[in-house]
Amino acid sequence: MLAGMTVLDSTHDPKLRAWVRSANAPDSEFPIQNLPLGVFSRDGEAPRGGVAIGDQVLDLRAALKAGLISGEAAEAAAEPRLNRLMAMGRPASRDLRAQLSRLLAEGSDAASQGDSILVPMSAARMQLPVAIANFSDFMASRDHSSRLGARRDPNSPLPQAFDSLPVAYHSRASSVHVSGEPVVRPNGQWKRKDGVHFGPTEALDYELELAVWLAGENALGVPVPMSRAPERLFGYGLLNDWSARDVQRWEMPPLGPFLAKSLSTTISPWVVTAEAMIPFEVPAARTEGVAPPLPYLDSEWNRARGGLAIAMEVWLLTSRMCAEGSGPARLTATDFMHMAWTPAQMVTHHATNGCNLLPGDLLGSGTCSGPTDEGRACMAEIILSGPIHLPNGETRRFLEDGDEVIFRGRAHAEGAVSIGFGECRAQILPAPAWPAD
Ligand code: CA
Repeated sequence: MLAGMTVLDSTHDPKLRAWVRSANAPDSEFPIQNLPLGVFSRDGEAPRGGVAIGDQVLDLRAALKAGLISGEAAEAAAEPRLNRLMAMGRPASRDLRAQLSRLLAEGSDAASQGDSILVPMSAARMQLPVAIANFSDFMASRDHSSRLGARRDPNSPLPQAFDSLPVAYHSRASSVHVSGEPVVRPNGQWKRKDGVHFGPTEALDYELELAVWLAGENALGVPVPMSRAPERLFGYGLLNDWSARDVQRWEMPPLGPFLAKSLSTTISPWVVTAEAMIPFEVPAARTEGVAPPLPYLDSEWNRARGGLAIAMEVWLLTSRMCAEGSGPARLTATDFMHMAWTPAQMVTHHATNGCNLLPGDLLGSGTCSGPTDEGRACMAEIILSGPIHLPNGETRRFLEDGDEVIFRGRAHAEGAVSIGFGECRAQILPAPAWPAD
């Protein structure tokens, strides 16, 4: 089954065009080769599943009703959460993709029903696409880990196990929310020169990460070998693991991050399926002088196809830029292909001890920093070389109230039609006053 899961089919054909004209524009994030799944609603209507195509959303409930798609996978994808589809696994996702591709391809009879099955993206309010039971956050970038670790010990900047396993911790699922919803600056405790302090964080940061959505389920006690890991990868999105650095530094030893991370996590609303990402699979990154992983974290498929080529960017829009009518400034440009550990290795590592991974579980890749200066994917890394100077003369060390952070991602490969992830964005609101009693 695995070989069949990772080969190109007619849905990836770069010549394929959609009858939704906006999808065929060269810069469209959502051409017919993408077909990401999400959950949306319109004012006064119930949430349901949809597919991004150009500047439109294909309403899956309407398409089912019109008899344009059918079967259990299509019914599950039209629901207000994608968990049941994710439980059905990648074969169901692949069958659904084939139906959607036929429906939206030029020449399809469905074009005549466009008005009843399409919703303009501008009128669609995107929802959290999944009921997330568990969220685990990894730390898979060598560049991120070594830049920040060098402050602690320049001679040995990486965590001791970094090259042996993908380091991770259990994070908070309940505070994951969808792009567009604001983030409130948290209050917290940390140590300053004048003693232990409590108040609004003074070091609010973003972390640019890839969201990995899991398919299927392994029973408690049953690990997931590398040969089975790819079939557990349902799809991908962008994830902002907001971090209060002052709180984090104070609270972290010895058990790991707690309130500095659980304040909020923002995800992009569209789930780009693992099927759509097949053309963008690349060899897992190798670092000279680093021994290959132990055999249980290694596989031929992972070495050849475990990585993903995704250009990722962070943009900052300050209140002053808004007032001045200028566009956002780019803070980060990196690529997921630099990551030292792959999504498949994260799955196998996570279930090594028999931990049961559930459909719709969320993995964060860890901050996706790359080797270059512009590849630094959080502010804590950027300001190691001094404050950030923005084009309009403003400076930043960390985020200020009113700042809006925007992530973008685009998968790329020669000979393939590039596909986008849509935006993951949120504005920072001031901290609430601490309750009086
Ligand atoms: Ca993180």
